[in-house]
Amino acid sequence: MTLLDRAIVRLLPAVPKPVVQRFSARYIAGATLPEAVRAVKDLNAAGKLATIDVLGEEVTHEDEARAIAAAYGNVFAEIEREGLDSNVSVKLTALGLHLSYELCRENVEDVLAAAAARANFVRIDMEDSTTTTETLRLYRELRESGHDNVGVVLQAYLRRTLDDVRALADLRPNVRLCKGIYVEPPSIAFTDHDAVRASFVRCVDALLDAGAYVGIATHDEWLIGEALERVRRRSLARDAYELQMLLGVRDDRATELVADGHRLRVYVPYGEQWYGYSLRRLQENPAMAGTIARATVGRAFGRL
Ligand SMILES: Cc1cc2nc3c(=O)[nH]c(=O)nc-3n(C[C@H](O)[C@H](O)[C@H](O)COP(=O)(O)OP(=O)(O)OC[C@H]3O[C@@H](n4cnc5c(N)ncnc54)[C@H](O)[C@@H]3O)c2cc1C
Repeated sequence: MTLLDRAIVRLLPAVPKPVVQRFSARYIAGATLPEAVRAVKDLNAAGKLATIDVLGEEVTHEDEARAIAAAYGNVFAEIEREGLDSNVSVKLTALGLHLSYELCRENVEDVLAAAAARANFVRIDMEDSTTTTETLRLYRELRESGHDNVGVVLQAYLRRTLDDVRALADLRPNVRLCKGIYVEPPSIAFTDHDAVRASFVRCVDALLDAGAYVGIATHDEWLIGEALERVRRRSLARDAYELQMLLGVRDDRATELVADGHRLRVYVPYGEQWYGYSLRRLQENPAMAGTIARATVGRAFGRL
């Protein structure tokens, strides 16, 4: 990204919501569950797996958190009814983590019960660093109380992550590994591009050595190559790991990886609360900042 792009990215929260919505449409299946179902059907038809995320990270009341948990019940029912190949991803803040740990745990257990009733699986997304310790604590508690249909996410940009891999090793965890998207200070996170990549590779090695099932979640071509090389060196079977990408990002590359025989899962978010997720995706799109700036200026002059 150029310096100008970086400056524009920082100003994105000031961009009018309709402009953000227009440019982020490709990243979101829609506002409703039927739209998510349609997106997953298309992905499945192309040989791709999915993970459905009910957008909702801004909950302020217990009722909202319980409503999100209930929405996941509907998602599992639709997955079964439509015969979809999809699991789900949840955000603990959407399930009430900032309101109370116990409320959040109850909600996660409800989602896990709905999943278990249909032999399905729940991935706990990782959010900003204020939630890391509690997220990993909850993951351990759930596993130790007998829930096997749950996985977690680790972020390679956090300096603590290699230690977290070692701490989780006894659980033989199911881990999605990603770079990490929240803005974190250098005291706790690698901020240099190459350092994040190096940490990602170290974590892939440590996870595979620990016998973890790894979801390699990146669109970074260099990292995809490094991770697959490590999988190849260990002669892992094709069902012993998976690649993961986001809806609307590098779709053609995902198709190639499927054609090469890899399991590949696409993250499919849907729901009314599209704004926070959309901003994060636009901030990451190297080609988008300038385009949005032009559109915003155009709007200001009445051309949009
Ligand atoms: C399945 C999945 C789940 C995730 N879950 C989490 C999570 O729980 N917690 C968390 O903190 N982060 C999560 N992330 C986000 C992740 O941390 C990164 O922020 C994101 O994947 C971008 O990093 P990258 O590895 O793709 O590398 P980048 O260097 O950002 O991207 C590599 C290339 O991919 C393309 N690209 C990347 N993003 C976009 C975009 N938005 N639009 C267009 N092109 C793009 C560009 O060509 C870019 O050069 C998830 C990512 C994936 C794929």
